[in-house]
Amino acid sequence: MCASWRCSYNGCRNGNPARRSLPSEPSPDMPPAPRDVSRLCIHTQTTRPWAVGEAVRRYAAAGVRGVTVWREALAGGDVGATGRLIRDHGLSVVSLCRGGFFPAGTAGLRGKAIDENRRCIDEAAALGAPLLVLVCGALPGQALDESRKQIADGLAALLPQAAAARVKLAIEPLHPMYAGDRSAVNTMRQARAICQELRSPWLGIAVDVYHTWWDDRLEEDVAASGREGTLFAFHVCDWRTPTVDLLEDRGLMGEGCIPIRKIRGWVEDAGFMGFIEVEIFSRRLWATDQGQYLEAIKAAYLAHV
Ligand code: ZN
Repeated sequence: MCASWRCSYNGCRNGNPARRSLPSEPSPDMPPAPRDVSRLCIHTQTTRPWAVGEAVRRYAAAGVRGVTVWREALAGGDVGATGRLIRDHGLSVVSLCRGGFFPAGTAGLRGKAIDENRRCIDEAAALGAPLLVLVCGALPGQALDESRKQIADGLAALLPQAAAARVKLAIEPLHPMYAGDRSAVNTMRQARAICQELRSPWLGIAVDVYHTWWDDRLEEDVAASGREGTLFAFHVCDWRTPTVDLLEDRGLMGEGCIPIRKIRGWVEDAGFMGFIEVEIFSRRLWATDQGQYLEAIKAAYLAHV
């Protein structure tokens, strides 16, 4: 297998040609290509080898205008100073990733999870992030509907603090391959049900194409989420075939089979015109030159998003 991110983007001479994807052509059911990178946001985990300060400087120099910060990138640092550094470089803090992981086997442990999420909200406020993204959690051996009830209870406990801090909370539905241990919320429909139960302007949904592209109800649920005012964030990457690691083998846009531009069309038709966030965890891509990778991200964004 070719080890370079260039292989599928520029045309691979030593890999599987089926893995290649041509730039998305204009079509009646798809929006035009982005004109520029003014709506491009990058997650700090995407370029994990860079510390947050270097990522911010490099993104800004490349013309990227938004950054989503992972808590890992803040560990041990001055959160407020990082927020100022980002703004001083002309970037917007789009969100903080991530809180969540509400389900647990005892009330005490569920309380601890809520406490940890309270710290996440405080961190988001200190960073100047308007949004906290949540991977909601699942407990192996516990029924998914019970886990979803515990997730809703956890969110209900947090919403007053989120409102006071002016930090929105976004449920991120995760692909069902994670239903066993990472998230009992696996579809937009399940996320919408929680939002409708709790009905707060501070609670919504982060749509990630990696987790939702397979769902034959995605288009209608994205439209409904737009009507309900809960479409808070849009994450992109690609799904490689075969995927060799469930967590750290995401593809650069164009390397896989997700109809990213088509989904962007649904999201924009639903009224979302915020940042488009590139969130890629890939040991293969982290092992490449991150400066070249950043340029490849911009090119892939313009060609495939
Ligand atoms: Zn995501």
